[in-house]
Amino acid sequence: MAKLAFYGGVDEIGGNKVLVEDKKTRLFFDFGQAFNFGTDYFASWLAPRALNGLGDYFAFGLLPRISGLYSKEQLASTDLAYTEPQIDAVFLSHAHFDHITHVQFLDPEIPVCLGVGAKLLMESMEETSSFCRYGEHKCHKFRTGHEKKIDGIKVEPVHVDHSIPAAYGFIIHTSAGAIVYTGDLRMHGPRKDLTEDFMEQAKQCEPIAMICEGTRMVEKETRKNYSEAQVKDLSNEVVSSTDKMVFVTRYSRDMDRFRSFYEVAKKNDRQIVVSPKTAYLLSKLLSDERLHLPNPLEDDAILVYYKRKKSGQFDEKDYYAWERDFMDKMVTHEHIHKNQKHLIMDLDFYQFTELIDIKPSPGSHFIHSMSEPFSEEDIEDQIMHNWTDHFKMHFHQLHASGHMDRKHLEDLISYIQPKKVFPIHTENQELFKEHCQNVQTIEYAKEYPL
Ligand SMILES: [Zn+2]
Repeated sequence: MAKLAFYGGVDEIGGNKVLVEDKKTRLFFDFGQAFNFGTDYFASWLAPRALNGLGDYFAFGLLPRISGLYSKEQLASTDLAYTEPQIDAVFLSHAHFDHITHVQFLDPEIPVCLGVGAKLLMESMEETSSFCRYGEHKCHKFRTGHEKKIDGIKVEPVHVDHSIPAAYGFIIHTSAGAIVYTGDLRMHGPRKDLTEDFMEQAKQCEPIAMICEGTRMVEKETRKNYSEAQVKDLSNEVVSSTDKMVFVTRYSRDMDRFRSFYEVAKKNDRQIVVSPKTAYLLSKLLSDERLHLPNPLEDDAILVYYKRKKSGQFDEKDYYAWERDFMDKMVTHEHIHKNQKHLIMDLDFYQFTELIDIKPSPGSHFIHSMSEPFSEEDIEDQIMHNWTDHFKMHFHQLHASGHMDRKHLEDLISYIQPKKVFPIHTENQELFKEHCQNVQTIEYAKEYPL
């Protein structure tokens, strides 16, 4: 008999940890960290201590105490004894934090299966950021069409469209029948066709169960969302109607969004200025030929912004080794200031101090291409507006979500027609019942036989 259990993503956005068991085979799907993870006990610099491994997490029941899952090192300061792996593999749907972060705790003997591009994204994060460590694991990379048989379970990854490259849903063939896991997906992105492929294959296998994301399963949407095509068109309107500087803020690994702004820049005879981190990610992703991203070292439309560090003289030694590769494409605040009407600049909120050096002319534009704040008391949102007001910039909110809206979710379920629906990655499991009859709402760690 096959069964399901959920150790994350239950009544919360993200943090998915789905255990699929069939006879002796046990697989996890995703091993992420929810956005509100640990916030009852930790805040800012009050954080779990790395040296205590899982000890600080177990103290508050933040991670499941499952034998044969975690590494010896992580269990050293806990009372859960280390045993040989009892999980056969962990599959990752895509490289967003809320689906992969807790991979760092896994026993390195447990194979991690993930998309070719997802592996590149994770490597890039480890190489360019001090807080991303996923540990060493046996890795099996896949693409759509590569089935993976692990003991009695056959797993088929199928590409989907989401706000990060290399996102997949899975069709999991067990002895009880097929289980579909959506990962995160959308229908309003530039690669709607990928999601359609997934829907088609999922329907064909007549699933006995579907584990379905529900980020936007809400009573009423309060935040403004566009399609990716609309974001591009509206951004083009902003850029084409000004001779001032245009800044954009977006999620760093949303390459669809990068491409939108890159194309808008080219269309308007402007160059796009990116950070060394984005340049590094772009060059890393070149090795996945299916992504068709530009090479920052060869593409004349791309410039790389170096901020002042250490000596303040833009000396090579001031920068990390991985940052130095792009110094041939270097521009500084002075160049930006002098060429405002010829540029679009990627500027992350945490780099806003660069505005003090750049001195954008009043009337410049700022495109916030991320979710609107979740609460009205959002401090960072207030600070962002204080900065854009201070520099007399026009503010534009232009964003396309990585997730299906409610209508698309309902269409997805009625198209695939699974026997049962398990809502995950949502704060509104009950709302699924308004549209479909066979909803099994999920509880943390409870087993659901199929
Ligand atoms: Zn995601």
